[in-house]
Amino acid sequence: MSTKLIVGNWKLNGGLSANQALLDGLRDGLGAVRCRAAVCVPHPYLAQVQLLLAGSPIVLGAQDVSAHTAGAYTGEVSASMLRDFGVRYCIVGHSERRQYHGESDELVALKAKQALAHGITPIVCVGESLAQREAGQTEAVVKRQLAAVIHENGHCISEIVVAYEPIWAVGTGITASPEQAQQVHAVLRAQIKAATAHAERVAILYGGSMNAANASDLLAQPDVDGGLIGGAALKAADFLTILRAAS
Ligand code: 13P
Repeated sequence: MSTKLIVGNWKLNGGLSANQALLDGLRDGLGAVRCRAAVCVPHPYLAQVQLLLAGSPIVLGAQDVSAHTAGAYTGEVSASMLRDFGVRYCIVGHSERRQYHGESDELVALKAKQALAHGITPIVCVGESLAQREAGQTEAVVKRQLAAVIHENGHCISEIVVAYEPIWAVGTGITASPEQAQQVHAVLRAQIKAATAHAERVAILYGGSMNAANASDLLAQPDVDGGLIGGAALKAADFLTILRAAS
């Protein structure tokens, strides 16, 4: 995987004028950025951001999708609805959804399946808690989380993106060291290779307090194919620095 992929996850942030200002800043500074880039925005802003990104190399993403196609599921948003707004990537199984909304490995796998069925690339998040790391369970946890998606999606595995986001690094300002990230990425790479002949198509992103200062060291690791960025994706200057580090 040579061209890196940098994805901004805006989480529960933004507003009509803030989005416009952020995207104006990105457009003005993009210049010679060579990596692939996406922003995953809250559902109500998909239409706005789709328009603002027209003609830009940055593509549109969402942060969640329903496991259902249609019907009596109040509050849910389907993959075909996301597709109507030109969504290309959708995060599934973010640790915040697993933690605060009780999402299981099985549900995450069904969400990934819905995205794939509608031509949207799921960004499948995996990652261990601090307690699990300290108990030496990191490998087992991330392999179990990825296995659920691989099992459910069979031949489509090569069409997913994987994001390793250690929970203890998400939003904490504590980043995994480049060595810690590489170690887990290598485990995930081996698991993907064992499951598909097209493993080289699968980008493995690192996420968890990646910022303008630490991005180049993390991105220099052989199995770190890009980043999933939270806080630092909300400031144009920081996100641009990461995009340049990945170019
Ligand atoms: P932070 O970059 O704010 O730690 O968030 C990472 C993340 O959860 C991206 O999905």
